[in-house]
Amino acid sequence: MERSGQESMPLHGIRGLQSKVRELQESPGGLGFGRYFTDHMLLMDYEEGTGWGEPRIVPYGPLLLDPASKVFHYGQTVFEGMKAFKWKDGRARLFRPLDHVRRLNRSCARMCVPAVDEARVLGALRRLVTADADWIPEAPGTSLYIRPFVVATETQLGVAPSRSYAFVAICSPVGAYYAEGVRPVPIYVETEHVRAVAGGVGDAKTAGNYAAGLKAQEAAARMGCAQVLWLDGVEREYVEEVGSMNAFFRFGDEIVTPPLGGSILAGVTRDSVIRLLRGWGVSVSERPVSIGEVAAGLRDGKLREAFGTGTAAVVSPIGSLHWRGERLTVGDGEPGELSKRLYETLSGIQRGELPDAYGWMEVV
Ligand code: PMP
Repeated sequence: MERSGQESMPLHGIRGLQSKVRELQESPGGLGFGRYFTDHMLLMDYEEGTGWGEPRIVPYGPLLLDPASKVFHYGQTVFEGMKAFKWKDGRARLFRPLDHVRRLNRSCARMCVPAVDEARVLGALRRLVTADADWIPEAPGTSLYIRPFVVATETQLGVAPSRSYAFVAICSPVGAYYAEGVRPVPIYVETEHVRAVAGGVGDAKTAGNYAAGLKAQEAAARMGCAQVLWLDGVEREYVEEVGSMNAFFRFGDEIVTPPLGGSILAGVTRDSVIRLLRGWGVSVSERPVSIGEVAAGLRDGKLREAFGTGTAAVVSPIGSLHWRGERLTVGDGEPGELSKRLYETLSGIQRGELPDAYGWMEVV
């Protein structure tokens, strides 16, 4: 795959912004999420017969893709999202990068995209982060978000796996997800549209899942809600995910999260949270949880905390659920004890301020 000429550099890749990262990271909402991009990107091409080529680090810029490329018509594409943090010693660390690359390959397998070589991609991502290390913000809550993705580039209008692909990785310095700290958010329970079904592609990180969710997100926004709580595609009864995060509920002293049954993305943060909780001696059940059980728990006070987990926000407490015209409040509207402890522990490990007991941080 080629890149187009310098004359069409995108406006969002503002040159020289790097020097402003320090300034922007200090103001609430200054960096935002996924608004600015670094100087370089990673490119790697695949051709049937020869396989994946060498990864190359090139200046950030537009891609030149034939309009007949299969990705535009049939959505054969996968992506990942992971973060790098700059520690006080000045060195950058990636959070569980191998787990992200392995999940990329699981998404590839589901979407008939050829697997990438884990070690080669990890090495190339490290070189990319090193090349753009000056872009990593350092203020609390900030990080460098890394977005690797693969698109089908074969130029042929026919529904069949592509015979050529481009792997690309771009980086974006991102701000604290919540400018005023972790705040519980109102959530809309979607009872009409569904995100995914077992047997579909819900457990793959592929673009269509997110496009399919936009309609419900609009409905949530109309109801004054920040995100959608997704229910299962068969009975509209069991909780699946919350926005693009995995869902957790605290009933008394038991923490419950829906099991990975094919329609749910296996979050790296979900796994980290389960391991931290179990390490603290908290009981975690991966079992189906119905919206009826959640609503009953909120009415009788047994449901004490609810939160989403994901790379972007780490832990995002749910403040209320808007379900069938009713607004059910979670706890006293403040972040719950466990949500806060999980957020502080994970962020502390990521920033190098707490011991990395599980070996999650990888020096770049
Ligand atoms: N579910 C969906 C649908 C997502 O897009 C994400 C974000 N990757 C997650 C859950 C959380 O996954 P992770 O903790 O690996 O970011």
